[in-house]
Amino acid sequence: MLQNRMRALESLNRLTRENQNEICAALHADLRKPSQESLLSEVAVTLEEIAVAKKNLQRWLKPKRMGTPLPLWPAKSRIYYEPLGLVLIIGPWNYPFQLLMAPLVGALAAGNRAVLKPSELTPNTSGLIARLIAKYFSPDEVRVVEGGIPETAELLNSKFDHIFFTGSTPVGRIVMRAASQNLTPVTLELGGKSPLIVSEDADLDLAARRIVWGKFYNAGQTCVAPDYLYVQESVEEALLERVKRETEAQFGVDPQRSLSLARIVNERHLQRLAKMIPADKIFCGGRVDASDLYVAPTVLRGVSWDDPVMQEEIFGPILPVLTYRDLDEVLGVIRSKPKPLAAYLFSNSKRVQQKFVNQISFGGGCINDVLVHLGSPHLPFGGVGESGMGRYHGRASFETFSHAKSVMYRYGFLDLAVRYAPYSDKSLQFMKRLFRI
Ligand code: NAD
Repeated sequence: MLQNRMRALESLNRLTRENQNEICAALHADLRKPSQESLLSEVAVTLEEIAVAKKNLQRWLKPKRMGTPLPLWPAKSRIYYEPLGLVLIIGPWNYPFQLLMAPLVGALAAGNRAVLKPSELTPNTSGLIARLIAKYFSPDEVRVVEGGIPETAELLNSKFDHIFFTGSTPVGRIVMRAASQNLTPVTLELGGKSPLIVSEDADLDLAARRIVWGKFYNAGQTCVAPDYLYVQESVEEALLERVKRETEAQFGVDPQRSLSLARIVNERHLQRLAKMIPADKIFCGGRVDASDLYVAPTVLRGVSWDDPVMQEEIFGPILPVLTYRDLDEVLGVIRSKPKPLAAYLFSNSKRVQQKFVNQISFGGGCINDVLVHLGSPHLPFGGVGESGMGRYHGRASFETFSHAKSVMYRYGFLDLAVRYAPYSDKSLQFMKRLFRI
């Protein structure tokens, strides 16, 4: 059992390692993704997940010893982790390799068979995944079904033992509705508007550098990208000047010529983004070139919640900036919105940090950085409320794709007669004492 799972993980390891150049090339063809971004956020994240699973699988698989309450003695209690069976993993286009493979690591580690459905919007990566999976796995173990809405709808009509979906919140609802027909459990890794707060006590140079990197990584098409920025009024000017300087330092005076900036996935998404850039609010950037699927790293200033850019998840290289005076006020605004997938704070004050952590709910996040929590297999990753349900990465992936079967082993001695009918006042009194009620 362990051997089969280790062998499957090793196949995925070889698939990823041996084809990393082809993977990067496909991602470049689909999204003009810079190699460094592909290697780090698609290849390395997958390899790290595999390494952690291989290292820990034997331990994870061991039946877990649990305590037994005194009234149930003598007994021993165990949890056994068993495979769910056949799982469906549906992926999005923004990290089209990693967001299928990282869940697949969990599915294989837990002993399942899997069907993968890559996004049709990144056809080069989808085709490559289909070819590689067919080469490294038998079709009974893992198979790929390519296609768009009709193919996914057909899959959703079939019976699976678990559906792991990564994508938008509206499609997440469709998936959950379909899954309910077969009572199939779902993990939904969705999106939303993830806030970023910069407090006046933050290191502004560091904040600007990391914000520019994280917001414009993969041209802003990252589920955990900071969606909008709330900066404390007193440091707005100072931060925005730094953000402008950093954008130039990282992407040059003409970012369209930069090799470090990905492109928008297609014309429809580009037009959606173009509508979010009002000319009178551009602080820097703002250029759109449809022929090159290019949207410049853009910062919008003086934004309010009535602006189009604040009505939906941006999913592009546009950073709207709002200001605040009092942290409580911002935390209140965030609490009044759907719970986000991520949230970020730049502050050197322990008091501000604790307020942020304790007073708002979000899937996961960072203090004094952005995105990087996603890279740790020790931190379960997932949303809350409208940003999703369930979690994965590291041990959490193994648990998501396993059924935890509880078994109590009982012994025949000390078989108290008071347990059995006919009940009496005496047996009732005994039970009351035993259960302390
Ligand atoms: P999407 O929901 O449009 O598509 C995701 C998958 O669902 C694709 O494979 C697609 O073919 C399929 N699909 C689309 N419409 C469908 C329908 N009507 N019926 C059945 N299947 C359908 O998402 P996307 O545009 O590919 O990805 C962007 C979204 O995903 C963003 O909201 C982003 O925040 C989110 N996302 C979340 C995470 C996360 O880990 N939580 C990661 C990446 C992206």
